[in-house]
Amino acid sequence: MKLLVAGFDAMCPEVVARLGDELPTLARLARDGTFARIHLTDSACTPPIWTSIATGVAYGEHKVRGLTKNGTGELWSAGDVATATLPDVALNKAGLTVGLLNLPVTTHPPRALAGWMTSGDMIYPQAVYPPRLADRLERYPDPYCSYDYDVDTISVDVVREKTGLIFQEFIDRAQVSYRNLSALLDYHEPDVLMAYWHFLDSIQHHMFAIPERVAEAYRLADQMLGSLIERLSPERVVAVSDHGMRLKHEHETVDTITVDGHRLYVTDWDGHRWVVSGDHSSEALLAASWAESPDQIPTRVEDVLPWGLRAAGIEYDSGRLPDSAPARRQADLMTDAERGSVLARLRELGYG
Ligand SMILES: [Zn+2]
Repeated sequence: MKLLVAGFDAMCPEVVARLGDELPTLARLARDGTFARIHLTDSACTPPIWTSIATGVAYGEHKVRGLTKNGTGELWSAGDVATATLPDVALNKAGLTVGLLNLPVTTHPPRALAGWMTSGDMIYPQAVYPPRLADRLERYPDPYCSYDYDVDTISVDVVREKTGLIFQEFIDRAQVSYRNLSALLDYHEPDVLMAYWHFLDSIQHHMFAIPERVAEAYRLADQMLGSLIERLSPERVVAVSDHGMRLKHEHETVDTITVDGHRLYVTDWDGHRWVVSGDHSSEALLAASWAESPDQIPTRVEDVLPWGLRAAGIEYDSGRLPDSAPARRQADLMTDAERGSVLARLRELGYG
């Protein structure tokens, strides 16, 4: 494998730095390679940033703005993004096979490519290309409880029970997604793998002020990254997040979890109490397996993938929007010669 891009939603540089050697894989990247913070200037909203990371196109250029379109409940999808910039299209055109696991927006819905692609995990429907792999994949669990604290009589016990259930649900989701990734890699190890995990975001939103929970979730992320590196021996590794996390600002020192009206508090590392939730911060994490001079480290999320590909020796034409309106399907943008070489590559790899 030439390049592994591991995307962890809301992986916070501060937390990674704080946990240090508790996260041996990330600590090794930081020590022997690159560890940097990317300051977001446009938005700390998840779908637009992952669209930028996956396409190399800046926030101001792609159309994706929020979670759903104008509050309609309709999800932003790959069909809203200029086709030439989609990672499967660009990488297949460069003659590479690609695996895309659960990237927000750009893998919804999965479509024909040399390699494989899944959507799912959190809000996107679970689906896979090639569709015949569906029976090899485990389904994600349904929510273990309501995420809304206002529907129950609020008590310390309810807070404890809910944070426990929500934590377990998202850890279980992460593990299902790792097992699914393993099954997809058994089918085909792509030249470039981009994988995305959501669980740190939800866990931190609900319990960022509970350091043991946060640490346990980060240890799982680090373990998954370490196992992937061990299995795949990629030439280059990039770990990236879309934003960090911070505590909501509510002061007053308490000793235990308490309840104040409908607002729930716990004590933090320094004895301050906070609402039992975090908010997105505008610092994203970037770690990589090779050392880079400071002026070459990307300072914008859209530069991360082209940077990683260049480091892996891959010429990649990123961020160029076609002059015409975006075509709807990959096939429309591929010349016969390109399609021929992709199909030949697929046959060579033993696919029917
Ligand atoms: Zn996010």
